[in-house]
Amino acid sequence: MNQDELDNRILDRGRQFFAAIGDERPSLFNKSAWTGKIMDACMQDEHFKVQLFRFIDVLPYLTTGDAFSRHLDEYFGHEESLPAVLKWGLKGLGWGGSFAQAAVSAAMRKNLAMLARDFIVGATAPETVARLQTLRDQGFAFTVDVLGEATISEREADEYAAGYQQLLSALGQAQRAWPALGGQGDGFDWGQAPRINVSVKPSALFSLADPADTEGSVQGMLARLKPLYRTVVALGGFLCLDTEMRRLKNITFALYRRLRADPEFRAYPHLGLALQAYLRESDQDADQLLEWARREGLPISIRLVKGAYWDYETVLARQSGWPVPVYTVKAETDAAYERIAERILRNHDMCHFACASHNVRTVSAVMELAHALAVPAHRYEFQALYGMAEPFRKALRKTTGRVRLYCPHGRLLPGMAYLIRRLLENTANESFLRQTFVEGVERDRLLESPRGMLARVAAEQARGAPARESGGEGSFRNEAFPDWTHAETRQAYVRALGEVRGALGRTYALSIGGQDIHTDDREPSVNPANPDEVIGSVCQAGPAEVERAIGAAQEAFPAWRDTSPSDRAAVLVRAAAAARRRMFEFAAWQTLEAGKQWTEAYLDVAEAIDFLEYYAREMVRLAAPRPMGNVPGEANEYFYEPKGVAAVIAPWNFPLAISCGMCAAAIVAGNTVVYKPSRATPVVGHTLLQIFQAAGLPSGVFNYLPGRSRVMGDVLVEDPRINLIAFTGSMETGLHIIERAGRTLPAQRAVKKVIAEMGGKNAIIVDDDADLDEAVPAVMRSAFGYQGQKCSACSRLIVVDAIYARLLERLLDAARSVRIGPAEDPAYFMGPVIDRSAQEKVLEYINLARQEGRIAFASEIPDSKGFYVPLTIATEVPPDHRLAQEEIFGPVLSILRARDFDQALAWANATCFALTGGLFSRTPSHIERCRREFRVGNLYINRGTTGAIVGRQPFGGFKMSGMGSKAGGPDYLLQFLDARVVTENTMRRGFVPFEELRVADVMRTR
Ligand SMILES: Cc1cc2nc3c(=O)[nH]c(=O)nc-3n(C[C@H](O)[C@H](O)[C@H](O)COP(=O)(O)OP(=O)(O)OC[C@H]3O[C@@H](n4cnc5c(N)ncnc54)[C@H](O)[C@@H]3O)c2cc1C
Repeated sequence: MNQDELDNRILDRGRQFFAAIGDERPSLFNKSAWTGKIMDACMQDEHFKVQLFRFIDVLPYLTTGDAFSRHLDEYFGHEESLPAVLKWGLKGLGWGGSFAQAAVSAAMRKNLAMLARDFIVGATAPETVARLQTLRDQGFAFTVDVLGEATISEREADEYAAGYQQLLSALGQAQRAWPALGGQGDGFDWGQAPRINVSVKPSALFSLADPADTEGSVQGMLARLKPLYRTVVALGGFLCLDTEMRRLKNITFALYRRLRADPEFRAYPHLGLALQAYLRESDQDADQLLEWARREGLPISIRLVKGAYWDYETVLARQSGWPVPVYTVKAETDAAYERIAERILRNHDMCHFACASHNVRTVSAVMELAHALAVPAHRYEFQALYGMAEPFRKALRKTTGRVRLYCPHGRLLPGMAYLIRRLLENTANESFLRQTFVEGVERDRLLESPRGMLARVAAEQARGAPARESGGEGSFRNEAFPDWTHAETRQAYVRALGEVRGALGRTYALSIGGQDIHTDDREPSVNPANPDEVIGSVCQAGPAEVERAIGAAQEAFPAWRDTSPSDRAAVLVRAAAAARRRMFEFAAWQTLEAGKQWTEAYLDVAEAIDFLEYYAREMVRLAAPRPMGNVPGEANEYFYEPKGVAAVIAPWNFPLAISCGMCAAAIVAGNTVVYKPSRATPVVGHTLLQIFQAAGLPSGVFNYLPGRSRVMGDVLVEDPRINLIAFTGSMETGLHIIERAGRTLPAQRAVKKVIAEMGGKNAIIVDDDADLDEAVPAVMRSAFGYQGQKCSACSRLIVVDAIYARLLERLLDAARSVRIGPAEDPAYFMGPVIDRSAQEKVLEYINLARQEGRIAFASEIPDSKGFYVPLTIATEVPPDHRLAQEEIFGPVLSILRARDFDQALAWANATCFALTGGLFSRTPSHIERCRREFRVGNLYINRGTTGAIVGRQPFGGFKMSGMGSKAGGPDYLLQFLDARVVTENTMRRGFVPFEELRVADVMRTR
């Protein structure tokens, strides 16, 4: 059948479908009920929709009438301004007074619970079984899905699996009394479909799933999925794996293949998975799945959906610098759906097809395609979501006879995330249901072929619709995050680790004035996970080498100062390109020398590249001299020049990024640099030298000078030829440098400028309405990511009393789930600390916690020579205790229990530091207060406190956390420059250039 003929048939089929639906509206859009009214209000008013969804999101946490009223007030205003739709059902109750308030809360809760009940089939097994029975009586099959909170610990994953087992046992008993649908007596619905059908979310089966560790994630999920599937098989049921966010898609597909091909289950065909048409890669995925099934001789089942995470995928890709993985024009998704459906239907001998959509065009297309391809009825079925589109599902049942409803089961609290997703879907402009039942879009238009629609859009664009906004060639863009879903990316990392390991143990010379300088004094740099493994043998500078390096830098200074800023910037851009070419290798060096996990190490290199690109552009911006004033007869010009020779003293925790940031800023501003890498990471420091060499930086502008602080640190800082010191590290060393730099020596020609980024004692406040699904993983990452060794790491968790117990329980469960081991293996969340002295210091603090507080949790550590310390959580820590005041730089988190939000905020501010801070809250007024009163350099609201990004979150603190302006921000380069103003008298014997007079005139009349 040709395409036009098929489209005509689809159109006819669609018209019949609409006729079968008639004028009936889904309850969701029925304005005589509260649900319909609320949906209507959402569609009329975007602000109300946002507020309502946020309110529903926090609702499960509002366990008292007081909390409920306070939030109602916060989100919608007082009694007078409360939208009428929210007062529905409250007539006669009055307002004000505690009795009325309680009644209002109760009525509102009831309404909202009703809304949730529209989508959730039952909260308990008996309730769900009874409801499913009713649906079956009406002729609908089901697939049931157990709702859960985000699984953030292994205990929660166990509970989730146990929830399925319980439900399955109830379903198993009930099915004995269920006659098969479709009138066939063999126990299968419609002759072939098991009566019990469950849908499972793989992410809920394993709390440590991570694409970087694809194999470990598959194994983790399989461990819980297998027993579950065994039960399903014993009941003669069907199991479908839902497909969720793209980051887990390949893991889900691998999981499916592994389970389907398992010798225990190979002979059992009732296992399916969902495929999302909105993903650009789904055509290829469909082909691969079908080929695999054929190759293995294993029939499969695919539920084709459009995809429920469109907003999430789009936002995540934009934030991560990835190409958007989903189609961005709705018709593209619809067209992909029809294309992939056809592929599956053509393979109906190997693949059972479940068409899951509420779109009449989509469903009609599938029906006609199946018809045209003579697909037997039992090889495909239709699926719809429970609670959506009742008239649609009825018409579908009448037409096809084979409709399965996707029925979420579970309590309201875990159901909220699901509910919001469904509401968002239904109120989106692009939603077929909204267009059909609300907007009343003409039916033939709704039935238009998506390919036709795309052709129309293309034609419109060709007629001169505005081009998409673009940052342009020269604008700054952050380096993309690593996307470990790609096997090539993972393989590249493993390969890089192998290559780096092959290059271990080399000797690293100093580099002074472009020459390698070998010293007899050498020190090994070792792998913190295995101190027997020597990363490199590093020459150590003494006072003589410092003298020589400063001399070389001073000699190189005049020419570099006089190099044009754009040429200097070009060197940085070339350096960025050089780093990009060796991205994985440089990251791998960090994994082995600094104990950085894959993502941490990769992002460190990415941040170094960002600094190079960002400061290059910043210098070009600052280089243009600025005319000042507007008085005729004089020309005032404001411009910058470099300060001279800079000493850059770098830390080990961001061994390339921070080193590179400080050096790049100094260099692009026209200074020359003597760079002292950290003693713990000199080999990574050497990679910076390689980057600048590859970029063609002139000799002497950057001098690489590893050495021991106690031997050469003060010599470097105090040398009178050093005009500028950029330091990042501990408060103790920072204050020492500041003091030393403050002493003026006789030969000194300039007051030394010190830029010092120092420590922090960063707090996260968890408010009583915080979303723990978000807060707990964010706290885990912030406190224990890279072993808590980031300056931005959270080391104080200040929790408001009302949520304390719940938070602690979930946090401890999450902590118990963590695995500790070498950073080179992505299965491990935490690795070793940097060196033996760090290990000893952290252990001292843990002892202190043991003696003076309470250790709520201390993990096991690997039995190895590596510098491991336990992940430690201390509770009942008084806010003024050393544990809550001193920087620890390790995986030790102190928890403080605050009476209320006011006290939490006061404690958060009560240290000498002001670096980063965090707040988890869903109370707008608390968020607003923290903006103003939580006094830290970088405040993060409802997210973790680490991972600042150049140009997006310029980073740095004040008080004892540092002096200087924020790295990666618009003021940073100014610290490396001196401003000059040149004023020229342009009047000669009363004559002023005409242009100046005119400009001054214009300015005056403005
Ligand atoms: C039984 C069943 C099971 C499901 N299981 C899953 C699952 O496992 N995983 C999952 O992700 N989803 C699942 N869904 C949800 C599904 O992906 C869709 O979100 C939902 O069905 C809406 O699609 P539609 O065809 O009914 O409606 P339509 O209104 O025709 O399509 C809406 C869909 O189009 C896409 N879209 C919206 N705007 C754009 C745009 N600007 N550009 C491109 N595409 C756009 C989105 O995918 C959106 O959901 C399931 C749905 C059903 C019925």
